[in-house]
Amino acid sequence: MTSLPSKARVVIIGGGVAGCSVAYHLAKLGWTDILLLERKQLTSGTTWHAAGLIGQLRASSNMTRLAKYTADLYVRLEEETGVATGMRQCGSISVALTEARKEELYRGASMARARGVEVEEISPAEAKEKYPHLEVSDVVGAVFIPKDGQGDPANITQALAKGARMNGARIVEQAKVLEIHKDKGRVTGVTVEHEGETTRIACDHIVNCAGMWAHGVGRMAGVTVPLHACEHFYIVTEAIPSLGRLPVLRVQDECAYYKEDAGKILLGAFEPVAKPWGMQGIPEDFCFDQLPEDFDHFEPILEKAVKRMPLLATAGIHTFFNGPESFTPDDRYYLGEAPNLKNFWVCCGFNSIGIQSSGGAGMALAEWMQDGEAPFDLWDVDIRRVQPFQGNKTYLYNRSVETLGLLYADHFPYRQPATARGVRRSPLHEHLKARGAVFGETAGWERANWFARPSQEREYRYSWKRQNWFDNARDEHMAVRTGVGVFDMTSFGKIRVEGRDALSFLQKLCANDMDVAPGKIVYTQMLNARGGIESDLTVTRLSDTAFFLVVPGATLQRDLAWLRRHLGDEFVVITDVTASESVLPVMGPRARDLMKKISPTDFSNEAFPFGTAQEIEVGMGLARAHRVTYVGELGWELYVPTDQTAHVFETLEQAGTDLGLKLCGLHTLDSCRIEKAFRHFGHDITDEDHVLEAGLGFAVKTAKGDFLGRDAVLKKKEGGLERRMVQFQLKDPEPLVFHNEAILRDGEIVGTVTSGNYGHFLGGAIAMGYVPCAGESEAEVLGSTYEIEIAGERFAAEASLKPLYDPKSERVRM
Ligand SMILES: Cc1cc2nc3c(=O)[nH]c(=O)nc-3n(C[C@H](O)[C@H](O)[C@H](O)COP(=O)(O)OP(=O)(O)OC[C@H]3O[C@@H](n4cnc5c(N)ncnc54)[C@H](O)[C@@H]3O)c2cc1C
Repeated sequence: MTSLPSKARVVIIGGGVAGCSVAYHLAKLGWTDILLLERKQLTSGTTWHAAGLIGQLRASSNMTRLAKYTADLYVRLEEETGVATGMRQCGSISVALTEARKEELYRGASMARARGVEVEEISPAEAKEKYPHLEVSDVVGAVFIPKDGQGDPANITQALAKGARMNGARIVEQAKVLEIHKDKGRVTGVTVEHEGETTRIACDHIVNCAGMWAHGVGRMAGVTVPLHACEHFYIVTEAIPSLGRLPVLRVQDECAYYKEDAGKILLGAFEPVAKPWGMQGIPEDFCFDQLPEDFDHFEPILEKAVKRMPLLATAGIHTFFNGPESFTPDDRYYLGEAPNLKNFWVCCGFNSIGIQSSGGAGMALAEWMQDGEAPFDLWDVDIRRVQPFQGNKTYLYNRSVETLGLLYADHFPYRQPATARGVRRSPLHEHLKARGAVFGETAGWERANWFARPSQEREYRYSWKRQNWFDNARDEHMAVRTGVGVFDMTSFGKIRVEGRDALSFLQKLCANDMDVAPGKIVYTQMLNARGGIESDLTVTRLSDTAFFLVVPGATLQRDLAWLRRHLGDEFVVITDVTASESVLPVMGPRARDLMKKISPTDFSNEAFPFGTAQEIEVGMGLARAHRVTYVGELGWELYVPTDQTAHVFETLEQAGTDLGLKLCGLHTLDSCRIEKAFRHFGHDITDEDHVLEAGLGFAVKTAKGDFLGRDAVLKKKEGGLERRMVQFQLKDPEPLVFHNEAILRDGEIVGTVTSGNYGHFLGGAIAMGYVPCAGESEAEVLGSTYEIEIAGERFAAEASLKPLYDPKSERVRM
């Protein structure tokens, strides 16, 4: 009988590739008393049957960086541990059957290059040369990544486990965690069933690496981990004589991937409509299990595959495999500390790329646990993006039907999920819908992204070029620049921080000075110890002891967690009041004319200056008007109690008829803000980006006294900036920039675009991004020539350190 320890520093739940990677990396960092508990045997969940594709190109820069780390790790793991991982850098080819796919692949290649991944755009004939069995008559382009590879998932996991053990970690199989214990908001231990006995183990940290069980393990701790299992299919052929060694092949337009292994072909599928699994729970005895085959479901993929690779027509099928894997609502995995439970960490929800992600994910999580801060921007996969409602199993079931197929769908910009919609709606939802709104979804919120004309279809037609709403967005954008527009930004996160110590608490966390008169609004960042930006917000002082924080809808849980984590023994209450008020920004040079028509308040600059808030009468109701702007124009954001929102909106609409009031969507908010170079959290500014390098020094007041991140600000001031946020406008008005395109300075790639959109007023695509500048003056930075690489083509760009639109901010204060 193996005795379990009575305590450990960290308990890792789950012995799949993720759990073993976390154990390996923590052990490498020198952690002792690491205990990994696996309910059955290592790899017996999803890991054992993975196809073993290990690619490096992901949708964003940092995810690519992590996938590249994984591939490099698996290459060296065999030598380090003596366990053969089967890792072979055979390269991978992705072929495009449409121009849209070609553009996606080529855009990805530009980003990969900027991240140091070797990649080649190749012709159909070159693809055929590398993969002779491939039918290429309808192939329009391809990308080859020489260092991509394939490996044996079970052996990779065993190698990670061995590496962890070699560095002192303990791994116990047949040990099922039954309960998670916590006290005063932090984990304290687990109860484990092992060899017929139940043991309680005290611990400081817990890591949830329970794969498709992670939702249930999260619930043991009161932590929401939204994921749902789906069936995932592949077939393996009999040995095919003279197949030869082949790279991995992806034909995303036919939902298929191919892996050659020991003279056989493994053909796997990401079909558009998936089959969720495990709705009634996962059977207790699940261990190295597979699910019943479903040939009818797989047949459409196979039919296309036989045409794509005619030799499959005569190859016998040796194995028809169906195994479950967990999928998350946004197809991105979960990493980090739970927002509501200290020292409860997650590393799960891998959406069919757990083998290729786990090396990097394990490394990043281990460093995060070690330092208490993410080692670099991991917002894409941060567990704090989760909304509490997303734990709902019906929601997860409905969404998971779609997410598996999205892996190989066209990843068009602005693409919206088609399933599980409508959970969170503004009180104006039906009003806006009746007026042509076409909605998108963020954090579960339905948001009017653009407004269709009466005769126009109310749907997105996605493309990499101008989409069907481009002209609508231009009209909305120009109305905001020349007249007046109204938005519905109810999805903003709203937090009240109040109590005797509210001021000192916010002074401690915010970089700007919060000690202002009631009625003042302060734009600020909350920084980490490195001077990186954890949160970007406005704070309105409502009274001596009450402050109102406005944050992006997508970051609300993260911001709440950051505030709560730093609350010591101050007398402060933090309340999420998001659902209690709607937000109607009224923006544009004619905003004052409109406000005057609906309210008796004096809206002049003297009586209502920029950066202040007042309660006002609107129609027969009340609102709090905040004179701020995210579009760079004169305007007020109206915070309206949800019960009066329809009334206030109707009042605005009626009064706005003569002024040409335009309903505007979120796409316009973004195209306006990027002309003004306002930063967007999660893209332009993250916890990795120093506030001074982000160009936000004007909002940092080191003279006010101590605050979190102040030392890092002073240090950077002394040492100088290493890089700077720069705004670009493409000289050619035609191409579009979205995100992640490579930035070239004097012909060399120096970074990637952090956010992009079309500047309808300025007349060209606008991009933001960081440029290295160590020891350089502003003039030297601007003295270079810049280009943006889009899908392999380079376009000249004008660079600016001041906003290209209204550099002196005269319009905001008009
Ligand atoms: C058919 C198929 C093909 C795939 N192909 C690829 C591929 O080519 N490339 C790729 O990157 N990915 C692929 N994947 C995905 C990959 O297999 C998974 O993402 C990965 O294995 C997930 O690893 P994990 O450690 O998170 O989960 P798992 O391997 O499921 O590990 C979780 C472990 O937690 C244990 N556990 C659960 N509850 C408890 C508890 N209470 N106490 C103790 N232990 C517990 C389970 O027993 C299990 O062993 C594929 C998946 C499928 C289904």
